[in-house]
Parts: sequence; C-alpha cells; structure tokens
Amino acid sequence: MGRTLDDARRWASFGTQVCRDAILTLDEDTFAEPSLLPGWTRKHLVAHLAANAEAVRNLATWASTGVPTPMYSSLEQRAADIEAGSHAAGADLAVWFASTATALAKAWDGLSDGAWQAPVVTAQGRTVPASETPWMRTREVMVHAVDLGTGVTFADLPADFLEALCDDIVAKRATAPIAGSPDIDICPTDVEGLSWKLPGSEATAPITVTGPLAACTAYLAGRGDSHLSASRDDHTTPIPSLAAWL
Ligand code: ZN
Repeated sequence: MGRTLDDARRWASFGTQVCRDAILTLDEDTFAEPSLLPGWTRKHLVAHLAANAEAVRNLATWASTGVPTPMYSSLEQRAADIEAGSHAAGADLAVWFASTATALAKAWDGLSDGAWQAPVVTAQGRTVPASETPWMRTREVMVHAVDLGTGVTFADLPADFLEALCDDIVAKRATAPIAGSPDIDICPTDVEGLSWKLPGSEATAPITVTGPLAACTAYLAGRGDSHLSASRDDHTTPIPSLAAWL
C-alpha cells in the first residue's frame, strides 16, 4: 500500500470539507430524511460522524500521553450517542460535526513524530500506530459523504483516495473467499494497469467486472453496481453481489 500519513491527512481534510458542504445544504426537514444507509436518517449519520471525530481524537490523546484512552467507552454507549443525536436539532448537529472535526485536526497538528508511531487500540480491537488513525477517519468522512445522499458520489472524491480505498477493501475482503463464487477481477477502465482480485471459493473461470474507478470503488464498498458490467469467458454475465462492508 502506497498511502502515507500526509496523504491520509490531506484526504481526511478533503472529506471533512465535502461533508461540511453537504451538511450546509440541509434544513431541519431534509436533515430528518433517510440517508443512503439502511435504517439511518441523515441525523443519525452526522451524529455518528461527530462522535467518530471525538473517538479518533481520543486515540490522539492516547498517543500523546501514553494513557489508554479508548475510542468509545463501550459499544452500547456508541449506539446510544448516535440514537440521542438522531433526535437533536439539525443546526446543533452541524455545529457538533464542525467543532469535533476542527478539534481532531488540531489534536493531530499537535502530535510529535514519536507520538504518531505510538501504538493505540481501535474500537475493533486492532493495535495500530497512531499514524493509521487519519486513514480510519478518511474512510468515514469520504464514504459517509456519499451516504448522506445529498448528491455527492464516489466520482467527486480524489482518484488517489479511491485507489487506496480499493486496496484497503480488497485486502479485507480477500481474507474470506466469496462462497459459491469464482474469483472476481475488478478492472477500472479509466486507469491504466490497475486491477484487483477478490478470491472466490470456486476454481472456475473468473468473472471480470469493468467500469470507471469510481463505480468500481462504490461496488467494492458494497454501495451498488451502477455503471459497471461483468463478463466471463467473453460472455456478459450478471454482476455478482458483494456482502456489506464497513
Ligand atoms: Zn461509519
């Protein structure tokens, strides 16, 4: 994987701005409408993003002080905070999002080179250097900017981020071969020499999925298969559905 800490910080800042701009278009009524995530309104999603900024900032505190400071006090608390946020006023949620994002960026600015290398533990229980946390935040703000359903698409996100996200998702998905499926080769048509392989459980001819990088990314992220086509042995075939991700 070629991404650097500087890349991730640049992307986190870009994704934060895209979310902020999208949130600014919402009024109280549209805030309460469904997001693109099943069961969540836009209020749930913005509350989740704000709480996530606070959680990732806890890891920055952990890295700079050495005192274990978990992202969330518990998974129950995390869910309760999102549910409470879904009943808050949209204007308050917009302020919560902006202030927590600013506080997180400031906390990152204050980390020494040594602190960036300090080990911290994510909500999933993974031990990672603090330098991995801007990438964790990047994924949240970029992908959820699309999930807000205000018109942002993966095509609005930087191509180098899309490549890094595909690398990340494929590495995760490759840990469990897709049951009942041959290998799936994903080949963006607008970037030369780039492709990914999702291993399947069946040793038969692979399925090749092609389309723009942005559409390939949406597909890998479990967010639809528009603008894609699939072929197998030079014949058109249905696009395989993928399990949820993130
Ligand atoms: Zn999320």
